[in-house]
Amino acid sequence: MGVAVWKEEFVNKIKEADINDEWKLIVDENLLKGDRGLYYTQNTFAGFNCSNCRHHWKSSKVFILFMMNQNKTFKHGTVKMRIFRQACKSCTADVLEIPKITHENMERVVRNVVTKIQKKFYSMHDPNEDLKPQSYGRSEGPHDKEHCEACKHNLCDWQVQPGEYEMEPYSSNALTGILMGLGRLTLNNKIKK
Ligand SMILES: [Zn+2]
Ligand SMILES: [Zn+2]
Repeated sequence: MGVAVWKEEFVNKIKEADINDEWKLIVDENLLKGDRGLYYTQNTFAGFNCSNCRHHWKSSKVFILFMMNQNKTFKHGTVKMRIFRQACKSCTADVLEIPKITHENMERVVRNVVTKIQKKFYSMHDPNEDLKPQSYGRSEGPHDKEHCEACKHNLCDWQVQPGEYEMEPYSSNALTGILMGLGRLTLNNKIKK
């Protein structure tokens, strides 16, 4: 599924959510935590095909990182997105493969992002419940940490709680958010050692 499909779905969902500011979705293949913005993470379910040995696998821990920023003056916002890849464990090629996310799961991920924007930037109270990804077939055993790109960056959800992570004050609760974030980072570093 191409980037254009994600962008189009995002713009449509923003409109449906009664947000009049202009928001856009940008794919950033190098996105990591550290810059200023509101970080938000999701796991989705997807299949992978190894380009070397044709092995096929499914994972419920396909990690997606988002970074959101709003410019209130100019009434627009941006969401950067990075979909993390996984490598095959049946061969030694060690090529990071891009997940094949279904249209249904793409829609669910995008809707959750828009719900987060409604809550955090427009103070809309609980506009939607977060949607879980749709599973099809069984994922392979426990999460294969060795072959997960997000695990390599210490971002995966067993390392850091999924959800949001704030790097810049947005509200009076910002300090709490940052302190919680630091707590997670410290914990994360402990796990790494
Ligand atoms: Zn393979
Ligand atoms: Zn992982």
